[in-house]
Amino acid sequence: MTLGRSSLPIEIQKLIIAFSSLPGIGPKTAQRLTFYILSQSVDETLKLSEALKDVKKNLSYCQCCFFITSEENINTCNFCHEKESPSICVVENIVDAITIDMSGIHSGTYHILHGSISPMNGIGPENLKIDALINRINTESPEEIILATNPTLEGEATSMYLSNFIKENYKNIKITKLAKGLASGTDLEFSDFNTLSNAFENRTDMN
Ligand SMILES: [Zn+2]
Repeated sequence: MTLGRSSLPIEIQKLIIAFSSLPGIGPKTAQRLTFYILSQSVDETLKLSEALKDVKKNLSYCQCCFFITSEENINTCNFCHEKESPSICVVENIVDAITIDMSGIHSGTYHILHGSISPMNGIGPENLKIDALINRINTESPEEIILATNPTLEGEATSMYLSNFIKENYKNIKITKLAKGLASGTDLEFSDFNTLSNAFENRTDMN
């Protein structure tokens, strides 16, 4: 990001650039956030910087489903710990798992792929947590795999890839995907509760 003939101190420029690198934050918002931070007390700012540091230092990914977990609990996040039904809901990212979980419509576990297949961006199946999902299918023998990827081109491609692979290799697993009704091209996290619940309850068979 260039700041033109800015005479702003380098510290401020660096913070604006750092904020600008966050998703959904444009240059104007980055500038506003930076000047807001500047107006805060040292104590308040340190709290924010500590929180940022702790998130990176103390948290890690569950080695089973790849949700976030605390370091001492690395293999059993809250989702894996509390599973109640033999179904795995496959989502693209952590926010999607949280969105579905908050709606209370799924009582099984999750599997977070950490992305979606996107040849345009050089992301293939090998770049996602798909091997780990296949390991789980082998060891956990789930009854159902719910493909809850986003209703975008990439999400659909990912869902299609997974359903084809599972169908070919595992004859007894039910494969479902969320029903149509979710706004096409948008992410699950932006769906309202009723739409998401309906899509989940009326999920369609892919076998
Ligand atoms: Zn987990």
